[in-house]
Amino acid sequence: MGDTDGTYPRVSTIYGPVDSWRLGKSLGVDLLFVNSICSFRCIYCQLGKINLHTSRRRVFVPIRQVIADLHRSDWKSADVVTFSGSGEPTLAQNLGEAIRVARAITGKEVVVLTNAAHLHEVEVIDDLNAADKVFCKLDAADEKTFQRVNKPVEGITLSSVFEGIRDFKEQYKGYLAIQSMYQPYDEDQFREFVRMLTEISPHEVQLNTPTRAIPKEWFVDARGNYEETPYPAVEPRKIERSELESFGERLRAETGLEIAVHP
Ligand code: SF4
Repeated sequence: MGDTDGTYPRVSTIYGPVDSWRLGKSLGVDLLFVNSICSFRCIYCQLGKINLHTSRRRVFVPIRQVIADLHRSDWKSADVVTFSGSGEPTLAQNLGEAIRVARAITGKEVVVLTNAAHLHEVEVIDDLNAADKVFCKLDAADEKTFQRVNKPVEGITLSSVFEGIRDFKEQYKGYLAIQSMYQPYDEDQFREFVRMLTEISPHEVQLNTPTRAIPKEWFVDARGNYEETPYPAVEPRKIERSELESFGERLRAETGLEIAVHP
């Protein structure tokens, strides 16, 4: 491992293209790879451990490295460019600039996967408005489940996430999807989830289920489709496909929204 400018390890900001069930061949851009950095610590996170649990934005990787790495990457074989990587991409202060650079170099559609915890911040809204598609995480319909599943930094609540997504969607010109990691819902939770989705009115709801083993520690390749983890890992709880499909069908019937179920 070398060194880029004396500060950053010589790991590329670009990974893949990896196969994505919603996006096809997706070229990943990781503006965070110096560590695993997120304002959540989701119980199913494929990165394993979030080492830096923060809601403070800053520049982790300089834009010149993103430009150099993009030129060196196999971007031509990708269908889209996706900002995701080693944590929450909106915590990178140079996200907007990196989105514009990625589109200028590749001419491809740009997607951001976000935990949606920071959509009330003006700078984050400006950055995300530069993307063609934004996929927002929404895993729970009550505060207790939200805190248990997503483990946000202090001060982030389900209401603040929901209101952030709803208000962002009102002014966003691009395509907004909700990504939800399926949890079993009781009737009250289901009704509330339907209400939130109806109010947000996303272009699509993607129902996911954890498929990857969860490593005990973070390692940089956890951002992509790696072969095996160098750390002990825990298998996620398996959800029956029929349960996921019938939940999707019920959600479709109740909301009238486009519901995509993980194959
Ligand atoms: S929001 Fe994403 S990166 Fe952050 S802990 Fe959850 S799954 Fe991991």
